[in-house]
Amino acid sequence: MNTPPPQEATQAPLRRLRGLGPQRSAELEKIGLKTVADLLYYLPRRYLDRTTIVKCRDVRENLEATVVGKISSMRLTSFGRRPRFELVLADGTGFLRCVFFNKASVWPKIFSKGENVAFHGKITFYDGYTMVHPDFDKLGEEGEARFLHTGTIIPLYRSSEVLSKVGLDSRGFRRILRVAVDDFAPKLSDPLPEGLRQRYHLITLAEAVAHAHFPESEDMLKRATARLKFDELFFLEVFLAFRKAAQETEEKGIEFTNVGERTWQLVEKLPFKLTEAQRKVLREIRADMKVPQPMHRLLQGDVGSGKTVVALITMLMAVENGYQAALMAPTEILAEQHFITSRKFLEDLGIKVILLIGKQKKSERETLLADIAEGRANVVIGTHAIIEGNVAFQKLGLVVIDEQHRFGVMQRAALREKGWRPDVLVMTATPIPRTLSMTLYGDLEVSVIDEMPAGRQPIVTAWRPGSARQQIYNFVHKEVRNGAQAYIVFPLVEETEKSDLAAATESYEHLRRSLMFRDLPIALLHGRLKSADKEAVMAAFKAGETQILVATTVIEVGVDVPNATIMVIEHAERFGLTQLHQLRGRVGRGTKKSFCILIADPAQKENGEDLSAETRRRLETMVATNDGFRISEVDLELRGPGEFFGTRQHGLPELQVADIVKDAKILFAARDEAFALVRQDPQLKKAENAAIREHLLKQYKDRLEFVHIG
Ligand code: ADP
Ligand code: MG
Repeated sequence: MNTPPPQEATQAPLRRLRGLGPQRSAELEKIGLKTVADLLYYLPRRYLDRTTIVKCRDVRENLEATVVGKISSMRLTSFGRRPRFELVLADGTGFLRCVFFNKASVWPKIFSKGENVAFHGKITFYDGYTMVHPDFDKLGEEGEARFLHTGTIIPLYRSSEVLSKVGLDSRGFRRILRVAVDDFAPKLSDPLPEGLRQRYHLITLAEAVAHAHFPESEDMLKRATARLKFDELFFLEVFLAFRKAAQETEEKGIEFTNVGERTWQLVEKLPFKLTEAQRKVLREIRADMKVPQPMHRLLQGDVGSGKTVVALITMLMAVENGYQAALMAPTEILAEQHFITSRKFLEDLGIKVILLIGKQKKSERETLLADIAEGRANVVIGTHAIIEGNVAFQKLGLVVIDEQHRFGVMQRAALREKGWRPDVLVMTATPIPRTLSMTLYGDLEVSVIDEMPAGRQPIVTAWRPGSARQQIYNFVHKEVRNGAQAYIVFPLVEETEKSDLAAATESYEHLRRSLMFRDLPIALLHGRLKSADKEAVMAAFKAGETQILVATTVIEVGVDVPNATIMVIEHAERFGLTQLHQLRGRVGRGTKKSFCILIADPAQKENGEDLSAETRRRLETMVATNDGFRISEVDLELRGPGEFFGTRQHGLPELQVADIVKDAKILFAARDEAFALVRQDPQLKKAENAAIREHLLKQYKDRLEFVHIG
């Protein structure tokens, strides 16, 4: 960029807005709203209008609804053990109960009797129709409630306690936005060329922003939203197109020209034949490695599909060309296991493999670091310990990242920085629906292992209540007596959750001493154990000396003991769907029939609530299918793309208006347009694209530093 972008009127600081004092603009600045444009993009989180409001007499179970009325009564009770706050809303057609468990005692101060409020949430049926922990918006005395009768659509804004104190509750936002929209929206220049707008029947940006805040009609609201979604996805895709183009024209990386003897020797030595799918992805990887452009490839394959051996062969190809290779895994247990596997296959081919993890002794670590720096170590396997500052490679040519979704974008970049334009292979077991991989990995090539090794039997999965525990353990006992190995997993959401750890340890002690298990080899594994102890426990289980492994989620990813055939998951309701699938993937890795038993009580007696519909759906999905792709789709549907994929992890902006799944059609259009644009005008130098370029530079400033644009 040679000339700075013209200062647009909407770039004016917020305090220039009519009627907005220094106190309020300071508070707004704290939430990131600095300019008028920032405020204009502070979009309503929801709208209220006659057509979206459900009357009390029409509520149904499981309906996501907005109900508007007056609070007719409220009370704080501590019925049972858990205090709760309840209020009753009346709207002239009936009543609805709202219940709050968390911080029950603060709610009486927030609401008052007679107040007009809109509640949003899912209707459950529990002794009458109820909303548990609904979202809410307080409505003005009579004003807004009356407005609704005239058919106006009322925008509702996100606020906070602090903002409300300075008058910026939803209504306060509405007032300042009225001014901002009237005075400034017409001055928003439109980055999209007219031709593009016409192709997709998009209204102008000025119109879209105005109608997003104060829609004239349902229809205009739809069109405003469509335009804003298009923009969001279009610029994201332009950014990705740039990044991809930048990679393609990047200075040369490494050409790995030979596939040497040893690669073939390794393939010969494997105790199994590679599947056709593994061969296919290896051919794709090979083609990338041969050419000078650095490889950026995502290897996708369901749990147990055999990604590790692909990584091994890939690393060997790098080593045979005189380079070092590094493999980073998210847990010590997994790194350790990869280390053992790699050593087994690579060491007698004359390749030195070392393990680098956090807890190694200083002297040991120094030797390892010297081996890496001086090139004696050909393959380095480790945890994030590999990316620490003092780790320097002599000649790193290939980087492999296992379970890549467990790492942040910076960690992955840090590993790449250890080499000079190394080839990069990232691996994941979470199959990503096409729409997502397109958006999030628009610049990565994707290889898929879409076939399981021969002889695998589907895992039989069952969901049983806690009352069946005795029966389940009888089954485990019988199988283990016959030589099987079993995992029993307890939830430990955070390694720091003391109570969870205590529960897991206690259950372990209980099992170990129980009549049934005391004659069987059983061990406990959790993240707090010392590295050496973890290692010893895993090694004993792997060797079959221990037959029952009571564990926390430390075994969630990667652990590979083909003889283990039973997975019991306690409190299965506390795990996410992808997590359950990963855990289940610890069994069914050999040719023997495997079982996964999920223990979860349909009625959670503790607080009188049933399992939520969502939790049931998770458990039922696990029982219904072994297909990781299907599971991932349901998970995405249940959690939404933000949660599911933590977009921030990928170094991409959080989407504000668009939904990658629901707006797939817009996404595809935006992508086609964006990639075509960058193909025709790679630097966006043409006059008609100046506005796009400017907008992109503004929005993606920080991220574009990685991409040499301009
Ligand atoms: P994941 O893709 O989940 O990382 P792994 O690489 O751990 O899976 O492989 C799972 C198991 O399958 C391992 O025990 C591995 O040795 C075995 N395996 C890999 N490829 C094959 C194959 N082609 N035939 C038979 N077994 C295989
Ligand atoms: Mg793996």
